[in-house]
Amino acid sequence: MPIVVQKYGGSSVADAAGIKRVAQRIVATKKAGNDVVVVVSAMGDTTDELRDLAEEVTPLPPPRELDMLLTAGERISMALVAMAIAQLGYKARSFTGSQAGVITDSAHGKAKIIDITPGRIEAAIGDGAIAIVAGFQGVSQDTKDVTTLGRGASDTTAVALAAALGAKVCEIYSDVDGVFTADPRLVKTARKLDRISTEEMLEMAACGAKILHLRCVEYARRYHMPIHVRSSFSQKEGTWIVPENNEGEAVEQAIIAGVAHDRSEAKITVVGVPDKVGEAARIFEALAAAEINIDMVVQNISAAATGRTDISFTLPRTDGQTAMTALARIQSEVGYDKLLYDDQIGKVSLIGAGMRSHPGITAKFFAALASAGVNIEMISTSEIRISVVVDEGQVPAAVQATHTAFDLDANEVEAVVYGGTGR
Ligand code: ASP
Ligand code: MG
Repeated sequence: MPIVVQKYGGSSVADAAGIKRVAQRIVATKKAGNDVVVVVSAMGDTTDELRDLAEEVTPLPPPRELDMLLTAGERISMALVAMAIAQLGYKARSFTGSQAGVITDSAHGKAKIIDITPGRIEAAIGDGAIAIVAGFQGVSQDTKDVTTLGRGASDTTAVALAAALGAKVCEIYSDVDGVFTADPRLVKTARKLDRISTEEMLEMAACGAKILHLRCVEYARRYHMPIHVRSSFSQKEGTWIVPENNEGEAVEQAIIAGVAHDRSEAKITVVGVPDKVGEAARIFEALAAAEINIDMVVQNISAAATGRTDISFTLPRTDGQTAMTALARIQSEVGYDKLLYDDQIGKVSLIGAGMRSHPGITAKFFAALASAGVNIEMISTSEIRISVVVDEGQVPAAVQATHTAFDLDANEVEAVVYGGTGR
């Protein structure tokens, strides 16, 4: 029997009614002649609530214990989904990430999957049962401790399992009908995409589109696993994430896939860095040693009079203090003047494989921002993406203006946000 892996997000299993609705869908897929493996997220905002609770107990929860706490969220939903399926007369068995064979490294809070040994899942489906797996967690190969894969990483669990099981498709269910040309919470006239290439989806996810976890798209690309993103609240066909179009299809492809935005980053400027060989390396080595992922980097031309330059970069806001501390430690060694920290920024990105072959996209993007009165603080590009950093408060205006300038607006509102608190 073909295997279908389905992942249900927190808003799809937010309450008992949601869990029963999801169970119906799962059973329908099984009845249609598939073996079904389900990955669930924690109910609603449970993960955030558990985090808040930990912070009430201590400002700095030990990472091992925080992982132990957060993984409890998915254990609750997996057991309840299995019960709801049993109630419908079908066999279901739930498994923690560890039981499902999700083997990771030992980086608590951001563990990477290093292997999947889904023996128990295979045995369960061989037995005619539906397997329910707790998302976003695994077990460390070295320490045998329970780990989490990072916020939103149940998607990654699902695609990784789908690849390991040789599934025919990985369906990701959330509270919107698919991937939209912009976040429908921000742009009412966002349009649903019927399909998008994995390379475009990678850029969208990397630029803050929360619909899919970045690593899940990387996995899908590496293992050629088709992903179908859709809503658990409707029967509508969603968005297919498909391998890159071949040349024949490129003609049909829209120039722009969408506009993504991200309000989770901060900007640090290292002011007055001596313009000498090796200074940038020293700065970024210090950040790498602190395990901080850098996004955009901009270095100004050095001022002739002083022989000094400024280096700005963006990074996750949650790593802001760690980065400032790591940089402060090397101030005398590098000899820079001072550090500036700004967390009131947002990143707006325009993404589309068609921009490779269409001139003028950058000019049009910047003109749209200008007419919306948005000032650009930083710019970075890839072959199929242009990103700008702007003031956080101007993100909605920047996204809307860009969406309109590139004719992405739908004639009538088609985006429905079925659930979720947007947290
Ligand atoms: N429950 C986890 C989170 O909220 C994982 C997930 O939803 O994918 O981040
Ligand atoms: Mg979640």
